[in-house]
Amino acid sequence: MGEKINIEKIEVYKDTYQVDLRYKESGKSEKVSIRKDALFALITVAEEEATLTSCEWALIDQECASVYNTACGHAWQFAEADIKDCSIEFCPFCGKVIQIDKNEI
Ligand SMILES: [Zn+2]
Repeated sequence: MGEKINIEKIEVYKDTYQVDLRYKESGKSEKVSIRKDALFALITVAEEEATLTSCEWALIDQECASVYNTACGHAWQFAEADIKDCSIEFCPFCGKVIQIDKNEI
């Protein structure tokens, strides 16, 4: 586990955030500056990684059972319940977090 950090102060300059940090346990302080565009680039990467770590499931047969096509190229059928009734969270094929495609047929 990492050490907890308090953000004491953030100053905004033209294209930079100047952040004063204080470590909770050791009490030592640190000044960090990050360019605004670098920060936004990091946020974009984090958002892209979030989509790379999920597997999108699309419902293809709602009539007789709940059959889903998975983004990783498989199909999965819920025999007696649909996905909302099961506590299934991860794709059994690729292990990523299941993301249900909202565009149901
Ligand atoms: Zn998958």
